[in-house]
Amino acid sequence: MTRPAEDEAPRRTWTLIGPDGLPYESSVAGTLGGHRRSRIYGRLGCPSAARALTRGGYLADRVFFADEPNAIAAGYRPCAVCMAAEYRAWRATEC
Ligand SMILES: [Zn+2]
Repeated sequence: MTRPAEDEAPRRTWTLIGPDGLPYESSVAGTLGGHRRSRIYGRLGCPSAARALTRGGYLADRVFFADEPNAIAAGYRPCAVCMAAEYRAWRATEC
């Protein structure tokens, strides 16, 4: 990943969901996407999320996380499609 020059303006921010489940402004982009209503997080290029976005109705509930620990702490679970291994691990700890 390349970093923009220090003096590059304006400095943009990204709205991410923190470990407390509340949004905050971050100076770095999130690495994971999520769905607020279904409490699922997944990769930004998730095919399942892309299909849902195409159908519409998903965008309003689209959220982003800095990383996986943040998503888990906020009460989200891994996407079964793009994070199958993480999803299985999560399932194993649930019941
Ligand atoms: Zn996914």
